[in-house]
Amino acid sequence: MEIKSVNLEFNEELKPLENPKNIIIHHTHNPELTLVTTHKLHQEKFKWAGIGYNYLIEKDSTIFEARGMYIGAHAKGHNAVAIGIALVGNFDEFLPSSEQLELLIELCTYFMFKYDIEPNKVLGHRELEGVTKSCPGSKFNMDEFRELLKVRISNNNII
Ligand SMILES: [Zn+2]
Repeated sequence: MEIKSVNLEFNEELKPLENPKNIIIHHTHNPELTLVTTHKLHQEKFKWAGIGYNYLIEKDSTIFEARGMYIGAHAKGHNAVAIGIALVGNFDEFLPSSEQLELLIELCTYFMFKYDIEPNKVLGHRELEGVTKSCPGSKFNMDEFRELLKVRISNNNII
């Protein structure tokens, strides 16, 4: 598993994300976005320091470090304790590609081992209290995804 880093410039100094307790999964909803255009959107439209996610998996199945292990802006009230991973795509309409899903599983299990995060602490954005949007998309089944993570963890099959 390769995580690419690009030197994104943030408008504020970011604070380290220490001891994350959750992983929160998102989709970008707009399937045409990339790391760079998401970064611009979050800066210019939302007036954030920069891209809100900690990691982003593009459609061509590249894992990018976005904020990396610095506190993100992706899930209100959870940012200081959660790693936010976004997939580029609209999973209200389509399922993620098998390559994207595989990379998401690899990235999640990597963090689950590193920070001792159980499968039931891996949540879809919509599963957080007070969230009304469907993120990471109504076709993205979080229970099935957690089952995949459990199997992978029990096989100890990590990168
Ligand atoms: Zn989301």
